[in-house]
Amino acid sequence: MADPMLALVKTAPGPGLELIEVPRPEIGINDVLIRVRKTGICGTDLHIESWDPWAARTIHPPLVVGHEFVGEIVEVGSNVSDFHPGEIVSGEGHVVCGRCRHCLAGRRHLCANAIGLGVGRDGAFAEYVALPMSNVWHHWPGIDPEVAAIFDPLGNAVHTALAFPVLGEDVLVSGAGPIGLMATAVVRHAGARYIVVSEPNAYRRELARRLGADLAVDPGERDLHDVQGELGMVEGFDVALEMSGNAAALRAAISNMAHGGGIAILGIPTADVTLDVNEIVFKMLTLRGIYGREMYETWYKMSVMLQSGLDVTPAITHRFSFREHDAAFAAARSGNSGKVIMDWSS
Ligand code: NAD
Ligand code: ZN
Repeated sequence: MADPMLALVKTAPGPGLELIEVPRPEIGINDVLIRVRKTGICGTDLHIESWDPWAARTIHPPLVVGHEFVGEIVEVGSNVSDFHPGEIVSGEGHVVCGRCRHCLAGRRHLCANAIGLGVGRDGAFAEYVALPMSNVWHHWPGIDPEVAAIFDPLGNAVHTALAFPVLGEDVLVSGAGPIGLMATAVVRHAGARYIVVSEPNAYRRELARRLGADLAVDPGERDLHDVQGELGMVEGFDVALEMSGNAAALRAAISNMAHGGGIAILGIPTADVTLDVNEIVFKMLTLRGIYGREMYETWYKMSVMLQSGLDVTPAITHRFSFREHDAAFAAARSGNSGKVIMDWSS
């Protein structure tokens, strides 16, 4: 085998992942080859590992999984002039077509033909990953390597958190998984007044407080109308970030919104959701779906907010070598974790 590398691979349909040797990716003239240093585990990776119905209909093994990473460029294609070996980069995980109406207009996040890194093409849980140069983001000097490794989900958090203006507004964050936790820090940085995080898991509620929540409540124990009263709020939340994928959480958000409020929906429900449309109409709410990151406005915003004091590091709770991938996946799956990082440098 020419130039083998270690990679975490879905080798066949069914549960599990295997750490095996595979050929190092070959690059085309427009591509960049990156030596992976650190990666983050995403819920998507857990779905692929456990082989749930979504994975079974979406993934075609063999596939190198993973899409959250930071690494160092080791080789560039002959057509690439903006990137050079030695530079520290991450990758935008949605590889767009470049030819559709939205791509041609520069609205690449709206491309309907996007292919996911580690989903529809070999991913980043490997010693090396290859990407088109148009998917590579230069990190700015001084970036924390662990934060750089999670620019993809931080981008989900930033894209959602900034979907509606939050300066001076009261914000509800439903779900304090890694993305809800980071979004809490983003809306705090962006000048929200009150931030209430709704999350059933006590470990994650404690993290949410560290990331800037005024109150972190258990939706099974507290009614959000009472929580509003505790804070002295009278008209409801101006902005809600739906980051749980839970139907009851979305219904609670709608019922607690101020008139004219905006709900940015990142969470992905696993079944149909019934909503009170009357309430959406009479409150004149705006519900907006959020997918991925804006290329590359979200990436720019992440970089400048980190430079101006945004701190999402408390959301990173566990670190493993890639050789301990079973333990890393178990930590991510346990719920008693924020972001889980795997190190690929040794
Ligand atoms: P996660 O599963 O780690 O976090 C979801 C959290 O919601 C959990 O902590 C869970 O305890 C909590 N929750 C469950 N029921 C709740 C309820 N009734 N009220 C409030 N919270 C509740 O997920 P994550 O990685 O942080 O991602 C957040 C969501 O965003 C997931 O649904 C994920 O699938 C989705 N996602 C979407 C995109 C996108 O581009 N749209 C990208 C990444 C992730
Ligand atoms: Zn396109």
